[in-house]
Amino acid sequence: MKKTTSKNTDGEKTSGGESVTAKRAVAGKPAAVPEKAAAAVKGAGAVKGVAAEPAKAESRTALVRRARRIDRELAGVYPYAHPELDFDNPFQLLVATVLSAQTTDLRVNQTTPALFAAYPTPEDLAAADPEAVEEILRPTGFFRAKTKSVMGLSKALAEEYGGEVPGRLEDLVKLPGVGRKTAFVVLGNAFGRPGITVDTHFQRLVRRWKWTEQTDPDKIEAEIAGLFPKSDWTDLSHHVVWHGRRICHARKPACGACPIAPLCPAFGEGETDPEKARKLLKYEKGGFPGQRLKPPQSYLDAGGKPAPPLGAG
Ligand code: SF4
Repeated sequence: MKKTTSKNTDGEKTSGGESVTAKRAVAGKPAAVPEKAAAAVKGAGAVKGVAAEPAKAESRTALVRRARRIDRELAGVYPYAHPELDFDNPFQLLVATVLSAQTTDLRVNQTTPALFAAYPTPEDLAAADPEAVEEILRPTGFFRAKTKSVMGLSKALAEEYGGEVPGRLEDLVKLPGVGRKTAFVVLGNAFGRPGITVDTHFQRLVRRWKWTEQTDPDKIEAEIAGLFPKSDWTDLSHHVVWHGRRICHARKPACGACPIAPLCPAFGEGETDPEKARKLLKYEKGGFPGQRLKPPQSYLDAGGKPAPPLGAG
C-alpha cells in the first residue's frame, strides 16, 4: 500500500493513506464527524469551507479545486478502494460487470465462481447449454436475459476476437449487452486504461457535490472528465462509488459522520447527528464484510473482511 502523509480537509495530518477522521470512524469510537461539519450543524453553515450555496458563486477554478480536494480526501479514507467484482482476467470482469445490472456486486461474486469453473473461456460459455447457464445465474435475477447477454458476448469474443477481450472502447461497446459503463469498468480495471464509471452511486454523489447538473450518464461522464486529469479517472470512480456505498447513501446519507462534510454543498441532506450518523455507516471500518470473496491484499491488510460464499450469509 502506498504510504502517504498529507493534510486532510480539517487540516489534520493523514498518514498511511487513512485520514484522521476516517480513523475516528472505526467501530466503537465516538463521533467521526469533522469539527467544521459539527459546527455547521449548530451554526447553520457559518463555517469556512462549507459554502451554503456554492453552485451560484463557485467559479470553474474553485469547482475544479473543490472536486480534486474531495477526491484527495476520499483517497485518504479509502486507500484500498478497488473494483468490487471478483475477477482473474478481462473475460471474467466483462461477464461479471454485465451480470451486475440490477443486483449487488456481492451477489455476482457469489455466483461467478460456479460459472467460471464450468465455463472458463468465451468458447466454453458460447457453446454451453443455455438452461444450465440460466440455473447458475438464477441468483443474480433477470437470469434469462443475462444468460442471453453473456452467451452472446462470449460468441462474439470467440468468433471475432479469437477468444480475447478487446482493449478498445470502440470494440467493447459493439459486443452484445456492453455499454460505455461496462466498457470503462473493463478498460480501467483489466487494461489499466483510464475511464470514468458512471453508475447509480456516481450519478447521485456528483450531483450532490454540484460537480455537474447533468442527468444523462454520458454527459455526466464528459463533464466530470473535464475536472480531473485522465490518470485519476479510474481511481476517482472507485472513490466515489465506495463513498456512495458506505457513507453517502441514497436514502440516508450519514452526513454527521462524513469526512468530506466541510466540502459538501449537500451536507445536511442526511443525518447530521454524529452518533445517529455513525450507525448508518456500512463498511469495513465498522466490521462489515466487503463485496468480494477474493479482495485485494491491501484491503485485507487494512482490516477488511472477505464476503461469504453463496448460501453462507
Ligand atoms: S451528502 Fe452528506 S454524506 Fe453525502 S457527501 Fe455530503 S456530507 Fe457526506
